[in-house]
Amino acid sequence: MSIRTRFAPSPTGLLHVGNARAALFCFLFARKQGGEFLLRLDDTDTERSTQEFADAICADLDWLGLSADETARQSNRFARYDEVFEQLVAQGHIYACYETPDELDRKRKRQLARGNPPVYDRAALALTPDDKAALEAEGRAAHWRFKLSGEQVVWHDLVRGEQAIDTASVSDPVVRRADGTWLYTLPSVVDDLDMNISHVIRGEDHVTNTAAQVELIAALGGTQPVFAHFSLMLGADGSNLSKRLGSLSLKELREAGLEPISLNAHIARLGTADPIVPAQNMGEVIEGFDIDRLGRAPARFDAEDVKRLNARILHEMPYDTVADRLQEIGAPAQAAFWEAMRGNIDTFADMKSILTLIHGPVTPVIAPEDADYIAEAQAALPDAPFDLESWSVWTGQLKEVSGRKGRALFMPLRLALTGQPHGPEMQHLLYHIGYDETAARLAAGRKE
Ligand code: GLU
Repeated sequence: MSIRTRFAPSPTGLLHVGNARAALFCFLFARKQGGEFLLRLDDTDTERSTQEFADAICADLDWLGLSADETARQSNRFARYDEVFEQLVAQGHIYACYETPDELDRKRKRQLARGNPPVYDRAALALTPDDKAALEAEGRAAHWRFKLSGEQVVWHDLVRGEQAIDTASVSDPVVRRADGTWLYTLPSVVDDLDMNISHVIRGEDHVTNTAAQVELIAALGGTQPVFAHFSLMLGADGSNLSKRLGSLSLKELREAGLEPISLNAHIARLGTADPIVPAQNMGEVIEGFDIDRLGRAPARFDAEDVKRLNARILHEMPYDTVADRLQEIGAPAQAAFWEAMRGNIDTFADMKSILTLIHGPVTPVIAPEDADYIAEAQAALPDAPFDLESWSVWTGQLKEVSGRKGRALFMPLRLALTGQPHGPEMQHLLYHIGYDETAARLAAGRKE
């Protein structure tokens, strides 16, 4: 069987980390087995779906590195859904109903009052052609339900194990509204079949839908895909993610300066018993992914954890991975420089502050009691041009002439050159600050 998965978001909003998890699982599962990953935009709701959200979804997936092998849009496939619909109506799998929302609501309330589950009573199945004509003459338009078998649907779920849903306990799902628009069930099944989806990997909020979908697949004579329903993601405080969309949208996380690999490495392992490790590339995330490791308990997402992982990943990131980005921000194009600096940053954007230490402007800080020492330092400056030895030559000489050592020897130099008591190794900073600028900062600091 060739492996094909799909991520099927509705372009009615921005993706949040929960959606990213669905996309990532589909991507990793396919890639790990040399299969294909499809993006399907579920845009049957033409009023709420927008091109802006579709573009934002593609931009987010690009950023995450989850490139799709194919992209489909449900709004391009209405004719196909019509065709399948006509076939299922002709075969008696789909039937017309005429109840108004109010009438359905009253039915449900009566059932509940009698202690019965609020399952649709299929009254519409008893309507004769004359009844229907009379209802239509009243101005009512039909909406359409798929007739479930009333039997048990069982499947082996890759995450949840054996699943059994009694379709007698579920209402026949409405597949098409009175205005002709589609609900999610039928287009999704038709697409999964037409696009040869082998594995449907999605959140557990779709488990109940799966029973109806399995029966719809059977009605269409299709082959049932393998299902995997993973547990939902909650916020760190146990809150529902969809209520906190703003703070946990991918856009927000991207703007916070997180590396996409950090998010991928984090959410690929969230909800498993495996440790979260600082992967450096998607190959490692793919390699370390195993859908069997997903547990059934909800996964808790804490953006602070991703920030910490982001820093760990940057601290080990090879120069080649960032060489282009370093060049873009005008950083020295040297592996040794990056390797000396990377331990000081939490996000890549922090490199800009390091470059400011090199190129300025900085405000040198010289304590009055260090003024003489800084004068000695000025006099002892090694010759231009500086190299990576200059710092030890300089401080070695200063040690002798001043009799200072340790913190008393180094800290006044750091403060005079960077204006800050902490920061990256002075050996590298001094080299890149260079002779002229170093001399200027020492002189400027002393004048104040
Ligand atoms: N458009 C559906 C959703 O966003 C897709 C669910 C599925 O994967 O089947 O929930």
